[in-house]
Amino acid sequence: MGLRIELDPGKCSGLGLCEAEAPELFEVQDDGSLTVLDERPSTDRRAECEAAVASCPTEALRLLED
Ligand code: SF4
Repeated sequence: MGLRIELDPGKCSGLGLCEAEAPELFEVQDDGSLTVLDERPSTDRRAECEAAVASCPTEALRLLED
C-alpha cells in the first residue's frame, strides 16, 4: 500500500496553503499553478500529506491509498 496525491488543477486557487504544510511535496509556481513534487510520497509522510490535504480550502487535493 502506498500513498498517492491527486490534484484537481481546475479547483486549485494557487494560494499555497498546502505548500506551507508540506514544502517538500508542493510548490506553487510563479504563474500560480501548483506542482506536486512527489505524487507518491513515502508512507512516512502520511501526517504531512493529511495536513496538506486538510489545509486546502478548495478541496483540490485528495490523498489516495493504492
Ligand atoms: S492549498 Fe489547495 S488551492 Fe491552495 S495551492 Fe494547495 S491545492 Fe491549490
